[in-house]
Amino acid sequence: MLLRHTPKEVAEREALTINPAKTCQPVGAMYAALGIHGCLPHSHGSQGCCSYHRSALTRHYKEPVMAGTSSFTEGASVFGGQANLLQAIDNMFTVYDPEVIAIHTTCLSETIGDDLNQIVAKAKDEGKVPPGKTLLHASTPSYVGSHVTGFSSMVEAMARLLAEPGPATDKLNIIPGWVEPSDMREIKRMLKEMGVEFIMFPDTSDVLDAPMTGKYSMYPKGGVTVAELKKTGSSKMTIALGYYASRQAAAALDAKCGVKFKTVDLPIGPSATDRFLMALSAATGKPIPQSLVDERGRLVDIITDMHQYLFDKKVALFGDPDQLIPLVEFLADMDMKPVHIVTGTPGKRFESRIETALAGRVKHVNVKNGRGADMFLLHQWIKNEPVDLLIGNTYGKYIARDEDIPFVRMGFPILDRVGHSYFPQVGYMGAARLLEKILNALMDRQDRDSPEESFELVM
Ligand code: SF4
Repeated sequence: MLLRHTPKEVAEREALTINPAKTCQPVGAMYAALGIHGCLPHSHGSQGCCSYHRSALTRHYKEPVMAGTSSFTEGASVFGGQANLLQAIDNMFTVYDPEVIAIHTTCLSETIGDDLNQIVAKAKDEGKVPPGKTLLHASTPSYVGSHVTGFSSMVEAMARLLAEPGPATDKLNIIPGWVEPSDMREIKRMLKEMGVEFIMFPDTSDVLDAPMTGKYSMYPKGGVTVAELKKTGSSKMTIALGYYASRQAAAALDAKCGVKFKTVDLPIGPSATDRFLMALSAATGKPIPQSLVDERGRLVDIITDMHQYLFDKKVALFGDPDQLIPLVEFLADMDMKPVHIVTGTPGKRFESRIETALAGRVKHVNVKNGRGADMFLLHQWIKNEPVDLLIGNTYGKYIARDEDIPFVRMGFPILDRVGHSYFPQVGYMGAARLLEKILNALMDRQDRDSPEESFELVM
């Protein structure tokens, strides 16, 4: 047993995290930056940090993720990294010719106190930014927050630094939050079904799920363009999907350009997808088309058919708050029981949002986020109250193996399976896929554990 030292007794811990349920801020900033067309992310810190951020993304998306680094050594670590960053900006525009360089900080450069506003201004003053090219920067110290915080800060930087006020258009800004490229593609499909004009930012579809053409392209065809980002300031409204990853950018856009916004949950499960589509309908006056109503009907049909396998099953979940909140609601809608819920991402309102999502349908739920909310605690909770299913990223496989629990992979990172970046989990179609994965896990377990006399061909 790999985790055999995890005791059942839960002790109060003040300053110790064991197996965190999150990763570092720059990973999120880098993922967000890749959703801009022609963008080369840049990590202002040591080479080790940048290697980690790139490898985390490469392993999850199974695509080569390119990024620059300020390559701090002893000198930069003591005296600051301004000279390294100025040289890096010059080199990257000269050698790799990106449209945008999106710079994020790291623990090291934040601790030294490097001022990115000042360094970026100096780079522009010294002519290191060629005409028509763009520099973007966000502060992402990883001793606070999580990868979700870093993602949010980089998206906020897109709105704050690039959006320009202008005469109002009929377009909606859609901030999709940290979801897979396949999810962004699915959200765009639903918008098109409704006939809604939109600008989505960031947009990693056709960047991190670009088709194999036999020819390497450093900057694939996807991503929101800088011209589109500038126009977000004249859109009629912003719909931000997810409070933790998207609201900050929507608020910045409102503050800068007066574009009003509405924050809704990620459309995971039928209830949250209903709310998303109704928000779109309210913002544009467009009705929800029959094609989407039919998709919803098919999803409800599967849930009804398979309810007997879902009812009363206890579930433990971990991951990012924007995913967990609608997922908990989805599970409760199907009469499942989410009993242990953990996210390492800090922030207010998580527990109250989970409570709202459950609407009193499950008694005695363990919920924790931020400090002390880690995989160790989740494992202890499971030892004290066993579950029928575990849902979360690849790091959950150790608990699943030790406790012999069916495991559905969802969230970031997924390092040992494929499919997550190609098949959506949002919308009615995405919920059907998620449901299929949950059902397969539960029914495979039933097959495995059935005695011969009740081993059924038809289930
Ligand atoms: S030092 Fe900080 S920024 Fe670098 S990899 Fe570690 S947590 Fe991330």
